[in-house]
Amino acid sequence: MMYKPLDRSRREIRVVVIEPGVFGENIHCALQTVCLDDNPAYEALSYVWGESSIRELITLDELSVGVTVNLKHALQHLRRPDRSRVIWVDAICINQDDNSERTHQVGQMGDIYKLCTGVVVWLGQETPDTSQAFTSIEAMADETRHWDRTLKTPLDPEHLSEQRSSSIKSVINGPWWHRAWTVQESILPSSLTFLHGSHELQAPALFAAAQNFLRHGTSCCYNMGMSVGLNVMRSLQCFTMVYMLNTYRQDTVPERVGYLGLNLLELISLYRERKCKDPRDKIYSLLGLASSGVHARLVDPDYNKSTQEVFEDATVELLQRTGGLQVLSLIFPVASPGDEMKGLPSWAPNWTAEGTHENFRDLHVRLERVVMYAASRELVHSPIKGMYKGNGQLHVQAHIIGTILTLGEARESALGPREIAVLKSWHNLANVDANKNRAYPSSTGSEQQIFFKNFQSVPYEDAYLLTISASVTRAIAPFQHHRLHNADEIRKVYNAWWRWIDVQNGEALKMSDIDPDLGVSLNELGNYVNDVSITTSMRRFFLTNEEAGLIGLAPRNAQVGDTIAVLEGGQVPFIIRGPNGDGDSKTWRMVGDTYVHGIMDGEGMEFPAEGIVLV
Ligand SMILES: [Zn+2]
Repeated sequence: MMYKPLDRSRREIRVVVIEPGVFGENIHCALQTVCLDDNPAYEALSYVWGESSIRELITLDELSVGVTVNLKHALQHLRRPDRSRVIWVDAICINQDDNSERTHQVGQMGDIYKLCTGVVVWLGQETPDTSQAFTSIEAMADETRHWDRTLKTPLDPEHLSEQRSSSIKSVINGPWWHRAWTVQESILPSSLTFLHGSHELQAPALFAAAQNFLRHGTSCCYNMGMSVGLNVMRSLQCFTMVYMLNTYRQDTVPERVGYLGLNLLELISLYRERKCKDPRDKIYSLLGLASSGVHARLVDPDYNKSTQEVFEDATVELLQRTGGLQVLSLIFPVASPGDEMKGLPSWAPNWTAEGTHENFRDLHVRLERVVMYAASRELVHSPIKGMYKGNGQLHVQAHIIGTILTLGEARESALGPREIAVLKSWHNLANVDANKNRAYPSSTGSEQQIFFKNFQSVPYEDAYLLTISASVTRAIAPFQHHRLHNADEIRKVYNAWWRWIDVQNGEALKMSDIDPDLGVSLNELGNYVNDVSITTSMRRFFLTNEEAGLIGLAPRNAQVGDTIAVLEGGQVPFIIRGPNGDGDSKTWRMVGDTYVHGIMDGEGMEFPAEGIVLV
């Protein structure tokens, strides 16, 4: 047994000392116990474990121990020829077989990465392209150089060739960029160095390159696509991820005025696709990012808890601390019944749900937009107290609005021929052409009286037009979500869009496709196409029961007979299923959030409230 127990009353950790040696020789290391309170000098390693069944041997405290191949490679490149190097490496410094030590050390992970002298990011063995990719990134870090070749002082064309941009993409798209733990490991430290085989790249150069790509691309060089071509533009989109990383790094600088700690809900959503071996790490790997602020110590890491318990606890904390129901908008709509995680309440997002990059991106954008609505009026800002009663039961006040009567086909994320056909089928289902001018909501009944108190009736076509983009667009103000209150604001771009769908079958967007009489630019139409795609992805169009006659977008796993409810504290309404059982044991299942035209700004609060239990 090489691990001596750590003193848990002090912030003790182990660091590994890599003895000097020549590349290729056996690696000799020693463990040393230090206390974070004594400001020890050490670096920290950020890397991907890699295949854990294949082990390579190193010598640690005179014993032969196995490490993953990728770690062995990293140690070989980190080792100095002439002096030792002190570094923190999770796989070696934490006794992985001791759950209670793991729990304790993971609780300190944020501090370990914050207090180190610097983090070395091991991107893996170099490839023949590494050196060129790093050279180009360094050139792109010069902000005075333009990316549009037709401007003065442009970047050397070789840096923007297809081959070079794909080398850059392969550096920024390797496994390290897709692992959950690397998020906080690269956001927290003050200094960061990327190592790819024997090639080194300082983080500031990479961050500057990413920033220049986005800054130039949205101002002076907005036309760069024309000169460098679509493939290069596509490859270089990988800079977006680098840019986000840098933004969060700046947000963690404690001196920053008004620093309130990072928003874990936003981070969990943004980095949801990141992979980790242990599903509990979907939450645990990000905890160190909120050392202060409303999400500080969201949950305490505990490897004796089940994944379901961890997901449930984190959801309860996110509900209670943010005083809103936003986290419920991150419930991933399962593609087929039975795909739900067993033992997890229906209202707690399953962070391990499988989806495409587009799926998660769309959910994340929709999360950002949730703040634009106020379905439960001023209650969206009041803290939610005492709503969780244990046993997976969430008690909420619900205003039940109606029932889904008709459902359209489900749309997926990417826009292809099938998706165009789905959008057309919704248009038919809604019967827009025949009902253009009738009033929405249309029917007669007691609910109508409730609606008309607060809701100005609009032509049916306008209601449909606003529904398919959930009344939000970037077509009017690029890079900004704009809440629409009137269909006139987007009628022109909607007409151009519908023509593109209906007549041109969603062919690749070209300037020549747009009728100049419509007065719409290619950019506006492009933004609108995206907005509709984001709003409708993984959703179905629906119509409600006759009384209220509402239309909206429900999660793809919604069913006929499901209930639409405004939940107090919710910025958007929800689809719920049930009830099951009678009397006091009556419970409902959460399906997911919804857009229902006419109840997004509190109109549904006029409907009577009842306490319900979600399980
Ligand atoms: Zn420029």
